[in-house]
Amino acid sequence: MKTTLLIALTIFHQLSSSTATKDPSIIIVGAGVSGLTAGKILIDHGFHNLTILEAENRIGGRIHSVFFGDAFIDLGASFCHGQKNNIVYNTVEKLDLLVHSKNSTALYSSSGDAVDPAFVDEFFNITSSLLTESGDLPTPDNENISYGEYYTKYYTEIINERFGKDPAKLKLAQEGLDLLEKWAEGSDGFPSWFDGPAATDYQWNEGDEYMEWKGTGYQTFIYVLLRKFPDLQRVTAVERGVVFDKEVAKIAYDASRERGGVTVTCSDGSVYEADHVIVTPSLGVIKENLDEMFEPQLPLAKRTAIDSIGFGAIMSLATHYTGKWWGDDFAGVSLLWTKEDLENSAKEFPLGPHHNNRSWVTYTAEIMPCTRNPNVLRFWFNGVLVPEIELLSDEVLVDGVDFITRKFLGKDYNVTKPDKMIHSRWVANPHFKGTYSYQKIAAVRRGNGTNAEEELAKPIKTESGRPFVHFAGEATHPRYYSNVQGATETGIREALSIINYYSKH
Ligand SMILES: Cc1cc2nc3c(=O)[nH]c(=O)nc-3n(C[C@H](O)[C@H](O)[C@H](O)COP(=O)(O)OP(=O)(O)OC[C@H]3O[C@@H](n4cnc5c(N)ncnc54)[C@H](O)[C@@H]3O)c2cc1C
Repeated sequence: MKTTLLIALTIFHQLSSSTATKDPSIIIVGAGVSGLTAGKILIDHGFHNLTILEAENRIGGRIHSVFFGDAFIDLGASFCHGQKNNIVYNTVEKLDLLVHSKNSTALYSSSGDAVDPAFVDEFFNITSSLLTESGDLPTPDNENISYGEYYTKYYTEIINERFGKDPAKLKLAQEGLDLLEKWAEGSDGFPSWFDGPAATDYQWNEGDEYMEWKGTGYQTFIYVLLRKFPDLQRVTAVERGVVFDKEVAKIAYDASRERGGVTVTCSDGSVYEADHVIVTPSLGVIKENLDEMFEPQLPLAKRTAIDSIGFGAIMSLATHYTGKWWGDDFAGVSLLWTKEDLENSAKEFPLGPHHNNRSWVTYTAEIMPCTRNPNVLRFWFNGVLVPEIELLSDEVLVDGVDFITRKFLGKDYNVTKPDKMIHSRWVANPHFKGTYSYQKIAAVRRGNGTNAEEELAKPIKTESGRPFVHFAGEATHPRYYSNVQGATETGIREALSIINYYSKH
């Protein structure tokens, strides 16, 4: 596996001077990081007959950095996860663009009190003892057990044993389970941690797992990738190939054709013919449009794979304040709801949606400061209510985060109300329909078999064996699905598939 990545990295960094001897026409659907990477590599290898059809009016897809307060913040991808064998890290490594993202090690209770640091240490010790060194759960005996069931079982065993004779600590530790669930849902993006398996095929990379951009946003990676950094005004050849506001409605493919075979129809009625298409829209978009998007329908194995991979959602929200009411040493706090406050939350904050009597305001785990953005705080919402939270009015959202902030920090800080707020709407946007993919139990590799991501990644070939309908995007990566690193590698993979084919035919 590692060898494959090394080859890909080498090709990416030392672009071969080979040019395409034939000039096949190639359409890439989507100008997110996978589509742009594929386009860049193809162009660098002499494949200039290339069009990128992008439904939005910008490049980047789920990488979306916007200027807010005093710096760029990310509404989509924010963190670079790991250093070793990570194409994102390796691409920007020498440019000093990343900084370790502070972790909130302080815990506040919804009672408004800071939780005793001695207990916080114990809590974090217990949670890390449940994970392996690589940050995963140990392989469970039962491969069908969900993440939530597994974690709840072992966590409960440990806290009963450790705090069984101390009812106050036991209650606090029991309340901590809700925070753990929110962390898991925030990280994996599933609506509930009972939707994902305990053992997945996801692979963490060694090194710093949470690095963020020094106020320039994740877009910086794209600029470096396209070689337009630091001269951001330069328009690269790949960008010139992008046609904006082109929503692809149908991809018809004819496997009997020696040349051509792909007809792409856009929602505005325009039609494009090509020898190859690289399909990169999110799995959310593919799931939503599966029956109409492909003609003929995708093969059963692919449809089954699509079904077995989940596509979830989190919501990014940032608040700006006219003055900073937290200190320079504020590294963020994690939020521990008491059982009583949770049960009462929908009554205490009746505005907006609730689930099982829990208000939407309880579906956020942390209040975080923002790198190089002194007057801005960050919130991530996760869980089952995200699709509804996204659609709340600005007034209700501001009231909600103000409520949370005062409830948890109001005793220790002079909390003020935000004057500005910005947030994402990934589920509501028809060009994303959520944030990133996660494995359901049926997606996971069994024995030496393929996993669902690999099945989804297989190109469809013509009767003569030419790969011509290609699939890229984060959900097609067997180990790094869900993240930018994975998406980038899939763009390389599909570009190489075309380059390799024409080097032999
Ligand atoms: C809130 C959030 C937080 C995240 N956090 C992180 C993180 O911290 N670290 C990390 O590594 N990753 C993170 N990710 C995931 C990461 O952003 C994605 O994995 C990656 O950007 C996906 O790239 P992609 O090219 O596969 O897909 P996309 O970026 O979705 O690109 C696909 C493109 O296709 C376009 N498109 C869709 N439908 C059509 C159509 N019908 N016709 C034409 N074009 C279409 C879209 O507009 C889009 O531009 C996060 C994502 C989100 C949303």
